[in-house]
Amino acid sequence: MQRVCKNCKKEFKIQDKDLVFYEQVNVPTPLCCPECRAMKRLSFRNERTLYHRTCDLCKKDGISLYPQKTPFPVYCHTCWWSDKWDPTSYGMEYDKTKPFLTQFGELKNKVPRIALLVIDSINCDYTNNAGENKNCYLIFAAENNEDCAYSRLIMKSRSIFDCYATYESELCYECIDCKGCFKCMFSERLQECIEVLFSFDMRNCQNCIFCTNGRNLNYCIENKQYGKEEYEKKKTEILASFTSLEQAKNKYTELRAKSKVKNALSTKSNNATGDYIYNCHNGINLFDVRNSKDSSYLADAEDPLDCQDCNNLYFKPERLYNVMGTLQSTNCIAGVYIMYCNEVHYSDSCYNCASCFGCVGLNKKNYFILNKEYSKEEYLKLKEEIVEKMRKEGVYGEFIPVELSPFGFNETLAKEYFDLDKEKALRGGFNWQEQTTGTYGKETIKKGEIPDSIEKVDDKILNEILVCEECNKNFRITKSELDFYKRMNLPLPHKDFECRHKDRMSKRNPRKLWHRSCMCELKNHIHGENKCVNEFETSYSPDRKEIVYCENCYQQEVS
Ligand SMILES: [Zn+2]
Ligand SMILES: [Zn+2]
Ligand SMILES: [Zn+2]
Ligand SMILES: [Zn+2]
Ligand SMILES: [Zn+2]
Repeated sequence: MQRVCKNCKKEFKIQDKDLVFYEQVNVPTPLCCPECRAMKRLSFRNERTLYHRTCDLCKKDGISLYPQKTPFPVYCHTCWWSDKWDPTSYGMEYDKTKPFLTQFGELKNKVPRIALLVIDSINCDYTNNAGENKNCYLIFAAENNEDCAYSRLIMKSRSIFDCYATYESELCYECIDCKGCFKCMFSERLQECIEVLFSFDMRNCQNCIFCTNGRNLNYCIENKQYGKEEYEKKKTEILASFTSLEQAKNKYTELRAKSKVKNALSTKSNNATGDYIYNCHNGINLFDVRNSKDSSYLADAEDPLDCQDCNNLYFKPERLYNVMGTLQSTNCIAGVYIMYCNEVHYSDSCYNCASCFGCVGLNKKNYFILNKEYSKEEYLKLKEEIVEKMRKEGVYGEFIPVELSPFGFNETLAKEYFDLDKEKALRGGFNWQEQTTGTYGKETIKKGEIPDSIEKVDDKILNEILVCEECNKNFRITKSELDFYKRMNLPLPHKDFECRHKDRMSKRNPRKLWHRSCMCELKNHIHGENKCVNEFETSYSPDRKEIVYCENCYQQEVS
């Protein structure tokens, strides 16, 4: 079934198995294309734009996702989780004469919100969407790490800086999509590697520089065998100065563009399209998803079953539709940060609730509508009435309207995947944050005056203010950061952490799929004299330089 997206006006396809799902959860078919749907959900997720803000209850200063001025109160973690306030005291009577979602918006602007989403962490003030970390700084969507900084999507790692999607690793720098690595730097897609630099798609390799598609290599440069001495010499040469490091980065970019890639980073998956997927079965448009079954249009998900149009969902979520941010919830439609809930719809920041509709900030509640309690019978009757009205308005089943996001588009993850400028965002109904964080023009070290090698840097740098060569924002070097650079023999960065993050994001493929065919023409393959005829969905757009192979050809050639 073809349809024109209400938002971007592009045509999109509703698949037969999507229709089965919509019938199951009893919602109409979506009005927007999968990309616009994802953008709307992500506009509710501010992961990394942090502000100094006072808790509106205990008045202590702290770090928050919200600036000082907001329509709703913001409470620190301790206050929000205390019994010093009662979310049900904000309960509202449903007014039949007004649209339900307008009333939900009014409630959202009254109920206190939690300053940061952090659990069980020690000395981690500047982290968010994070849990069980120790001594970490500016890490996001991260769990179980120690002494890490400036990273996103990291897990079970120690002393890694400036990494993205890196797991179970130690002493790594500028690594993306790496697992089980030690002392690796400036590399992507490494598994079980030690001291590998500027390399792409390597498994079980050691002491390599400028290598691609390597398996079990040791002491290789540009995929050629060298000895220990040559490797050490090359490494010292590269790390000697910022200038030589930049040259190495450029060389790596060239090598990487010519590497062989599989159409998708997909492992143990069956009948599933997307990228960065592991053990996924029956699904379309899955990105950064593990162990999924019969689920589609998901990103950043683990163990989902029968879910559609969700992102950031973990701990076996089941039958969810249009949810952003959840742990272990079941049978929910349209929600933001719905944790351990069942049958909670059109709600925000609810924990351990069942059968709630249009609620905000509740914990352990049943049969609530707009934070007001009802008997089971009353609840079911009123809920039906509201759903019917929302169906007539054409909003039931759709995600929460973007204007109800507490964030500006430019503060959220939506900005990282969809580059709308202010004008376009406002036209699309999104909010925009005018207050910017950070300072400009306060630098004590001018552009071009940062010492070229780390040997010339001492503790005095900790008192200096640097300036980002790209966006002119001021930044500082922290003590643990300096110790890390010294230990790894790395020159100081010339960009602030946000610009470094953007550079890493741009190396990862977009969350978008193109239909292409295998580029393999190798005659020793099963397709023999003819070019391989396999077709696939891939996140490599047709204008990219990489040689894109189907699973078979890649396995035969690389593994
Ligand atoms: Zn669209
Ligand atoms: Zn407080
Ligand atoms: Zn910058
Ligand atoms: Zn092929
Ligand atoms: Zn082939």
